[in-house]
Amino acid sequence: MDLMLKSVISYFLPNYCLVCEREIDPNDYLCKDCLTSIRGPIMAPVELLNIDSAHSYWKYESPMKELIRAYKFGDRPGVARLFAKIVFEMIDVFAPSTDVIVPVPTSLQAFIRRGFDTNLRILRHLARTIDIKIDNVLSISGKTVPQSTLKMQDRIDNVRDKFFLRKKPRSTSVILFDDVVTSGATASQCARVLREGGVKEITLLAIASAKK
Ligand SMILES: [Zn+2]
Repeated sequence: MDLMLKSVISYFLPNYCLVCEREIDPNDYLCKDCLTSIRGPIMAPVELLNIDSAHSYWKYESPMKELIRAYKFGDRPGVARLFAKIVFEMIDVFAPSTDVIVPVPTSLQAFIRRGFDTNLRILRHLARTIDIKIDNVLSISGKTVPQSTLKMQDRIDNVRDKFFLRKKPRSTSVILFDDVVTSGATASQCARVLREGGVKEITLLAIASAKK
């Protein structure tokens, strides 16, 4: 269906909270109660290799979990605006003087499946609000199995040597961004590659952490 027509029609259809299914405004995703139950930012519980400091906004639990799933797998790309606000809040607290942000890249298979780059879309919303440069310098090669399907050691093997630099990073101090940090293997590998490219200081920011 035509995208414009689709958005006009959906505006008049009832819209429900992704978690408790209460009826809400057409442009919202969660009701006020569910939204205020996300109280971040929280500190990431553990340290990650090659990363100076790591912070996630919330745990990968309800209602954040439903939001992320709706964004990545449920045809609700507009959630990116809400996530951009979250990233903005975290930069303000954890990296106020860093003005370059590097997205963890989306694999080609995921890009084809979803039709958009999940991290880049959030950062583009962010860059419209604050003065920050997106340095989309990381790329991913070959086939990777989705990390969520693998055990810890397999996750490390799955992403080892998969990431590379497209060009030299534009700053020696960057924020690395990923929507969800699980084992941390992906972020650590990205950070290693960035350091090889001359980056000295890396702050990882994530929307949610599922790290045990
Ligand atoms: Zn709700």
